[in-house]
Amino acid sequence: MPIVFDNRYARKFPEITTRQPIKPDGGANLRWLNNPLWAELASEETPPAKLAEWLGGLESWPGSDPVAQKYAGHQFGHFNPYLGDGRGLLLGQAVVGDRITDIHIKGAGPTPYSRGADGRAVLRSSIRELLASEALHALNIPTTRALALISTQGTIQRERVEPGAMLARTATTHVRFGHFEYCFHRVLEETMKNLWQDTIEVTWPHLADADIAEQFSQVVKSTAEMIAAWQAYGFIHGVMNTDNMSLAGETFDFGPYAFLDDYQPEKIFNHTDAGGRYGLLQQPGVGLWNLQRLAQAISPLIKADELRSALETYEPELRKAYLTRMTERLGMSSVPADERMQLVGGWLSLLEVNKVDYQLAFRDLIDSLEAREPKGFLAQSGESWWLEYNNAVSGKSDIDVMKQVNPWVIVRTHLAQRVIEAAEAGDDSLLHDYIQALMKPFSESLRESSWAKPPTAEEQVSELSCSS
Ligand code: AMP
Ligand code: MG
Repeated sequence: MPIVFDNRYARKFPEITTRQPIKPDGGANLRWLNNPLWAELASEETPPAKLAEWLGGLESWPGSDPVAQKYAGHQFGHFNPYLGDGRGLLLGQAVVGDRITDIHIKGAGPTPYSRGADGRAVLRSSIRELLASEALHALNIPTTRALALISTQGTIQRERVEPGAMLARTATTHVRFGHFEYCFHRVLEETMKNLWQDTIEVTWPHLADADIAEQFSQVVKSTAEMIAAWQAYGFIHGVMNTDNMSLAGETFDFGPYAFLDDYQPEKIFNHTDAGGRYGLLQQPGVGLWNLQRLAQAISPLIKADELRSALETYEPELRKAYLTRMTERLGMSSVPADERMQLVGGWLSLLEVNKVDYQLAFRDLIDSLEAREPKGFLAQSGESWWLEYNNAVSGKSDIDVMKQVNPWVIVRTHLAQRVIEAAEAGDDSLLHDYIQALMKPFSESLRESSWAKPPTAEEQVSELSCSS
């Protein structure tokens, strides 16, 4: 069966969309397809022969009704009403059973919201988004997904001239906090109300008839849980502007993101973020700040004290979700809840002082538990924490759980770079190999893989290009 579209967004919200087709940029070459995701959406294994042409805009995709979405947002703390899909188009909503899924294409050419920019995306940033979204998904962190990557024949001027691409992605919704900020700014109250209700119906159907206070509390909770998961896995989004915050609490719009290698929580990856607004340790606070902007925007729909009480649940929800994740990662469900945070604190200081790789440290812990003596970095510098941990868990670590939540492979900037350089030269074998590892990151067979290796001192990428 082909993908069945129900273009509900285009149909319901003409006043905040612009209909337009994908503007091709030369040819369209399918470089990667997410086969399992394709099978979920289309209930067929093989993609249609025309898929690349449809995605590249050479032919229109039967049933789709592409629109650019209008929105606003707070960027680095400042309100900007002039945003919108400047290079992306919402192709439509795929219907799967009683759920719908947005399909969006990024790099589809200029729109009325491009603000003079070219409307294109480079292969480099498209690959980076693809890697991160599938890696986060495999870690059970809510995120948009990458569906397909095509390259075009366009050459795009960024810091250098680069090959162009388009990335098809899926999401529960592409409605951002910034959509409501736009409606507030333009006093589009009726639109705001309908957009809120529609997005809730799509995202949390069981809350369709709940009151807005309860629905907003769910947005708060989902955002808190997403950010808690980022913190637990050392994921730095990098551009947490309100136009990059999905109402569904899915990780959204990947730019200069990074996963920590060495545990250095103060490190800044986005070099346009001179004040360090979006560093790892800032993320929980920025999440709340962004929710406050959303609360302000929807204030015409809901009482101020209801908004306030929902916002007050953010911090406890985030703490709870973070502790749940860390309890799994450290296998310490047998430890009383009020003692776990101390073990986490000790673990993080240990990693920070010794500049230990944040991901592989957890694997050292598993190895140590299996060997019943400290292994890896724990043998060199972690003996006192190891003793404290053993005292606390007293032989009851959840090793099986730990093996299912502690990846061997994550997105590492230097490895992404290697994959991108090969792909730019026309060789996609590294890309396919890396993505396969990222989709099954807990597999024991990856222990010795080159994808599991942290960067050497020479391989550390210190300056990340923020252009995309
Ligand atoms: P981003 O930093 O990708 O989240 O984008 C912020 C805003 O700039 C969004 O409104 C984008 O659509 C727009 N934008 C980013 N890059 C381009 C581009 N190359 N052409 C047109 N608009 C863009
Ligand atoms: Mg964005």
